Amino acid sequence: MIRPTVARIDLDALKSNYRLIVDALAEDAAVRTPGVIAVVKANAYGHGAAQVALALEDAGADLLACADIEEGAALRAAGVRADILVFGALSVSDLDGLFDCRLTPTISTPGAAHAVQAAAEKYKQRIRYHLKIDTGMNRLGFRFDNLRRTLPELLASPNLDLEAIYTHFATADEPESPLFNEQRLRFETAQSEISDLSRGAGGDRRENNRSAVSADSAVSSLSSPYVHAANSAALLRDSRVWYDRVRPGLLLYGIVPPPLASTLPLTPIMTLGSRIVAVKGVRADEGVGYGVRFTAEQPATIAIVPAGYADGLDLRLAGRGSVLIRGRRAPIVGSVCMDMLMADVTGLDVSPGDEVVIIGSQGADRIDVREMAAQIGTIPYEILCRIGSRIERVYETAT
Ligand SMILES: *Cc1c(COP(=O)(O)O)cnc(C)c1O
Repeated sequence: MIRPTVARIDLDALKSNYRLIVDALAEDAAVRTPGVIAVVKANAYGHGAAQVALALEDAGADLLACADIEEGAALRAAGVRADILVFGALSVSDLDGLFDCRLTPTISTPGAAHAVQAAAEKYKQRIRYHLKIDTGMNRLGFRFDNLRRTLPELLASPNLDLEAIYTHFATADEPESPLFNEQRLRFETAQSEISDLSRGAGGDRRENNRSAVSADSAVSSLSSPYVHAANSAALLRDSRVWYDRVRPGLLLYGIVPPPLASTLPLTPIMTLGSRIVAVKGVRADEGVGYGVRFTAEQPATIAIVPAGYADGLDLRLAGRGSVLIRGRRAPIVGSVCMDMLMADVTGLDVSPGDEVVIIGSQGADRIDVREMAAQIGTIPYEILCRIGSRIERVYETAT
């Protein structure tokens, strides 16, 4: 049993996008080729975390990132074996999942540092973590200008091993904003400060731990932490912020963050389609839908499509967006309802059962997520993440 409205996810296109990014990094890296952290948070931007993560792993991804411990546990339950980094704050989370599911936490607040240290002690384990530095986003992370005060205690935590240092850009997708460059410089200063600080703290701690823990974990704490900062926009924009790894999300799904452009031949991996379930003739001067916001000037034909705001289609699409029917653009009219929308198909020869493309191509035309986002004043991320759980995801792969 399957509803007419379906999201098709092309896993081959996903793998190809991943490899295009990897190849571009190898080609353009100044010194060493950075690795990738494949971002699959929020159910892989609505595409389905389990299937997307396994396909990325198949394409060679060795480190995935998610938003919280619960998402990480779901990835493990799906059989993901690659390392998994958790981005979110952990101070009020149930931390058992970090150990049960072998997840790598981000420590971005003193509260998280205490909580993870206490949990690791309880489990009698050492745990590797990524340290987040706030260089200007003013969200999570230790402030870049206060590290000598805030970090020594964390760096001396006996059960915590610093694996990587990272930051996040607030304006990577705003080419005019000077903050991007400022954040880069602050982050580079922070890196050298942390390396000074950890030489002090790490030295002491390693001595203490030599006797208590296995040789293996003592060795892992000796290697110096690696560095990452770039989301999709930063990756496209400035190879100076590639460092040791980059963290693309949106690009993997085949979408370039607006307003940026890219020469990478990425493919959007999701198409959203449906079928006409009814066709209605409307006389001149009659209105359509809640609030009768659309009034036909001439006799009109309206197609009813079984997808609405409960499926994540925004109300603001009415009067602004279109769907593709018989290779033509049919404007969305009236109102987007909970379970349905109406499209003006006047002049087209349509019947119930005809294919409707909401996102994707039909004939020579295509409606992409960037266009849809621009029509309603949002970002592609929001459109993708909101595609509802009622819509079945069908995974396609040739291999
Ligand atoms: C979501 C996220 C990313 C990926 O962002 P895109 O713009 O989708 O590439 C990278 N880093 C962090 C910390 C994130 O939260």
